[in-house]
Amino acid sequence: MSESVVASDGAGTAVGSEAAAGSEGAAGSQGAVGSEAAIRDAAARIAALGESSPRPAPDPVNLPMIRHWMQAMGDTNPAYTDAGVAPPAMTQVWTMRGLRPVDGEDPGDPLGLMSAALDEAGFTSVVATNSEQEYHRYLRLGEQVTVRSSLEEVTGPKRTALGEGWFVTTRSTWYVGTEAVASMMFRILKFRPAAQSGPPMTKPSAQPEPSAPPEPPEPPVAAAADVLRPVVSADTAFFWEGTARHELRIQRCGGCGTLRHPPGPMCPVCGFARPEYDVAAGTGEVYSYVVHRHPPVPGRRLPIVIALVELTEGVRMVGELLDIDPEQVRIGLPVRVTFDEVDAELTLPAWREDRR
Ligand code: ZN
Repeated sequence: MSESVVASDGAGTAVGSEAAAGSEGAAGSQGAVGSEAAIRDAAARIAALGESSPRPAPDPVNLPMIRHWMQAMGDTNPAYTDAGVAPPAMTQVWTMRGLRPVDGEDPGDPLGLMSAALDEAGFTSVVATNSEQEYHRYLRLGEQVTVRSSLEEVTGPKRTALGEGWFVTTRSTWYVGTEAVASMMFRILKFRPAAQSGPPMTKPSAQPEPSAPPEPPEPPVAAAADVLRPVVSADTAFFWEGTARHELRIQRCGGCGTLRHPPGPMCPVCGFARPEYDVAAGTGEVYSYVVHRHPPVPGRRLPIVIALVELTEGVRMVGELLDIDPEQVRIGLPVRVTFDEVDAELTLPAWREDRR
């Protein structure tokens, strides 16, 4: 699992996979102390295992994968196509598991073991929080890479905006033979989803009931507790403070002035690490969009339109396009920002067609 978690550190919506709303697990009021001790025991036991056995990359370092990666990333450095070395940031790519990892194919994976222990205690949701990679040298075409992982630290329980949870830090090291070529610190938060105000979410049954009424029932009014909340970090706090004031803020490099979204700690153009922000005019146009029909979204009546809006200032943001027939949405549709005050803590930006 360690390589399939998608970090969501921008001003987007947190994605907690394995969502288990309403699950109290073994960590109710009675068992909280016991489960805390069990988690610490599991952490100590898994950390003591040290590095997992080497897991080999399915393919040696190769040009076709480098070429696809460069196209996806927009990296045009000729060293990677002409000089026979791989982009360092691809390191993790070589040992990625497939899209559908096989259960039990990597029984010694420390993150998998620790996640299982936390699942057991009711901390069933996960969000990646941060990672740091170090590269010791370039990988060359034809080299066969392996990866080994160890559990570095488990801290908690901590109260977070997402719910109570534990931070799990692992260290992965990539090798060619016995030579370490790169390493990565990888941290996730395993959390128990905050209590829902309504009934627990349930998946719709695959087969509609034969006696189902012809009209779909009214969905419940969106409750604030149902909304997937963004992870507010040091990088994104200014954005959410802005939406609370009905300002759409765009991060601007304090060095070269380049605008960027989603926000991050450092300018990708000049490397300057003290960002500022501009307040956007709030206008833009639909650059791309999807009509979301399934699966159900808590508190929303489907379908909904999720648009990638290109702002007048040039950056793009993802947001819901409100009050429009999906058939009427088109690329280039002029839109204007609006603010959805979910509750005292959270105001989400959204978009409406700009008819002026
Ligand atoms: Zn800059």
